[in-house]
Amino acid sequence: MIKDLPVVPSAKAGSMAAAPAGAAWREQHPVIGTACNQCLECTLFCPEGALVQTGGNMTVMLSLCNGCGICAVECRLQAIAMVREYTGVSGVFPLREEKV
Ligand code: SF4
Repeated sequence: MIKDLPVVPSAKAGSMAAAPAGAAWREQHPVIGTACNQCLECTLFCPEGALVQTGGNMTVMLSLCNGCGICAVECRLQAIAMVREYTGVSGVFPLREEKV
């Protein structure tokens, strides 16, 4: 199948950096749902090369993913959902009162 895709930077998984700094401050990560038809378009847009096809499935290499969410935006089937890394209470915590 030939697709009319834009020319974008892409890289073989793990070829741009051994340990991208983005993985350390990532706030969300992609989860690939069952709607994925493995068209591989997300692999063309991922700036880190974190999406790979292994064993007939799409896999997110979390050691490379920076959580940018580009793959979720570009997926035409909306098969990729971004999930927050931290699932606890959000917002600003109240300051503790000092005990005298
Ligand atoms: S969130 Fe960004 S870095 Fe992570 S897999 Fe998707 S496009 Fe790649």
